[in-house]
Amino acid sequence: MRLTDPVETLKGVGPAAVKKLQILGIKTIYDLIDYIPRRYDDYSHLQLIKDTQPGPVTLQVTISQAKGRYVRRGLHITEAVATDASGSVKLTWFNQPYRASAIKPGQLYYISGEFGFNGRQLNITNPSIELVSDFPVNTARILPIYRETKGFTSKQIRLQVKNAIPLIRKLPETLPDWIVEEYDLLDRANAYEGLHFPESSESLAEARKRLAFEEVFRLSLASMLVKQEAERSDATPVAFNEKLAKEFVSNLPFDLTNGQRRAVWSIYKDIEKPHPMNRLLEGDVGAGKTVVAAMSAVMALQAGYQVAVMAPTELLARQHADTLTTLLQPLGLADRVRLLVGGMTKKQKENLKQAIKQESGSLIVGTHALLESDVLPKDLALIVVDEQHRFGVEQRKKLMKKSAKTPHVLSMTATPIPRSLALTLYGEMEITILDEKPGNRKNIKTHLVPPTDRPKIYTALKTELDSGRQAFVVCPLVSESETLPVKSAEEAFEQLSKGPLKAYKIGLLHGKMKPADKDVIMQQFVRRELDVIVSTTVIEVGVDVPNATVMLVENPERFGLAQLHQLRGRVGRSEHQGHCYLMLADSKAPSRRLKAIASSTDGFKLAELDLELRGPGAIYGTLQHGALDLRIARLSDVKLIADARASAQKFISNGDNLLHYKELHKHVTQLQKVTQLN
Ligand code: ADP
Ligand code: MG
Repeated sequence: MRLTDPVETLKGVGPAAVKKLQILGIKTIYDLIDYIPRRYDDYSHLQLIKDTQPGPVTLQVTISQAKGRYVRRGLHITEAVATDASGSVKLTWFNQPYRASAIKPGQLYYISGEFGFNGRQLNITNPSIELVSDFPVNTARILPIYRETKGFTSKQIRLQVKNAIPLIRKLPETLPDWIVEEYDLLDRANAYEGLHFPESSESLAEARKRLAFEEVFRLSLASMLVKQEAERSDATPVAFNEKLAKEFVSNLPFDLTNGQRRAVWSIYKDIEKPHPMNRLLEGDVGAGKTVVAAMSAVMALQAGYQVAVMAPTELLARQHADTLTTLLQPLGLADRVRLLVGGMTKKQKENLKQAIKQESGSLIVGTHALLESDVLPKDLALIVVDEQHRFGVEQRKKLMKKSAKTPHVLSMTATPIPRSLALTLYGEMEITILDEKPGNRKNIKTHLVPPTDRPKIYTALKTELDSGRQAFVVCPLVSESETLPVKSAEEAFEQLSKGPLKAYKIGLLHGKMKPADKDVIMQQFVRRELDVIVSTTVIEVGVDVPNATVMLVENPERFGLAQLHQLRGRVGRSEHQGHCYLMLADSKAPSRRLKAIASSTDGFKLAELDLELRGPGAIYGTLQHGALDLRIARLSDVKLIADARASAQKFISNGDNLLHYKELHKHVTQLQKVTQLN
């Protein structure tokens, strides 16, 4: 029997279980073994019946007087009595007619369940029972809780994993021996057994440590190898032109922040080399990433090469094209900007694609449309991917293949990924963090608004509008929902236009509109022909209208912290004070998350908090990196992550050959495919 065999080859896994396992994504024996528990319930402490309190208990007992009967059609009850040296307790099972006959009198059992009061007497309902002489998986230990599916609970999953124990115990080692020794790790077989059937909380911690270590080790090794390979491939060196850089800066209406200066400088140094740059520019919303991108692009353009800028939405692509045109104007390069988006006519697109094939030194801004196979730039030296977490790896790869030599890549993101996470997930990239906001920014004020204060907020909003500012109202849904008690954008638009904001010009913007229609609304807003935009989260990404100073968010509890932070970043992008009003749905005390966002404007801190309160999923949710999910390791395992990275480094510098480690090689190659951008 092999790990790659289907689960049904395991003794004891029947057709019903196979179906359920399939729903959980488990097809092979290895899938089953590698099905990581989400959490654990501790049933490991044995108690005496006389000491039990209501709640979860584990007892060691004999079971007698087991009898089953139908009380009425469809309701079967089995009752029995459990006895230990200290006393007895009644057991009750519902609709398990096989129960009574399966119980062996006189044998010692473990039972685990909820000890409670059934109205008349103390009892335990639907307990798990297992013979002490067996290998218990559902009682008397720390019990893993898995992701379940209907009619197939963790209890059943544990029984299936139990069937795989003989194979778990024979799992081959995948890590190099020296790593296992040096970092004092459990061997792989013991680690998997300890993960599913831990003997104690200490052994569980050891099991998790070993598997987490391997996870981070593989990920680090894959990205380090990708990086090494990239360092060997050819890119177009873009020479640094000091005069040009100075001219660009002297034409800006503001001074660069130190962070921007440092970022630009490291990019210039990177792209001068004949090997591709792969750099991630992380900067909170409003940190000024676009200027950094523009300064990078200018060098390549002036040298006669093409640059592609890819943005996730048509709105953003158009905005970038406008901004870049303005920034390039003083250098006489404004006519270099090309815009390629889905909303253009066929003829327009064809002409543009033809031009792109032939001309040099153009700046091609676009959406996913850039990925189309007939977009073939003549001489692409640099790619800028804005809001990179919005793109899949495959899409980024596709863009990179558009050039004979590997292009330099500047990825930008406003998702504040803590550095430890960034290093682990994006180890193949150099990372620059813009952690300083342009100096003229006032920190945006965020207010939690109880329902009773709504009229007051409308008054404050009107005062802002009257002084020439603009505002966003953000709702979680496009249209009214019958099931969710949540404000929709259409509803809010209707109410506001008829009621409180009757005197103002309001536009509606949401994801179900055609890109061209969205653009019309956005342009009207930019030209101040609209005072207010009522929208969904389509405005979340990148939209830059400095005159907008107020944002109202309806049902803020429906948004993630990172998302709220992104949203409010749309206002307070100028010297005017920005306000974000989180309109609470009821008068209950606001959650810790909402309180946090009201009291902190530090995106990185909020990301860390989201991490703590909701786990990595909170941040991962906004990142699309497919196989790069950490399944076992936690970001709070700072030392483990550092150790695992160090060992990957050592593996490479030792000249250890990956081919000598079959399993490891397989996994790392898989990860490389995901990580690799060329
Ligand atoms: P993001 O990092 O979110 O993409 P943008 O590049 O859109 O931010 O910049 C936000 C706003 O800040 C823009 O209006 C931009 O012109 C302005 N800006 C950028 N850098 C500076 C700076 N150093 N000083 C003042 N304003 C700046
Ligand atoms: Mg941006």
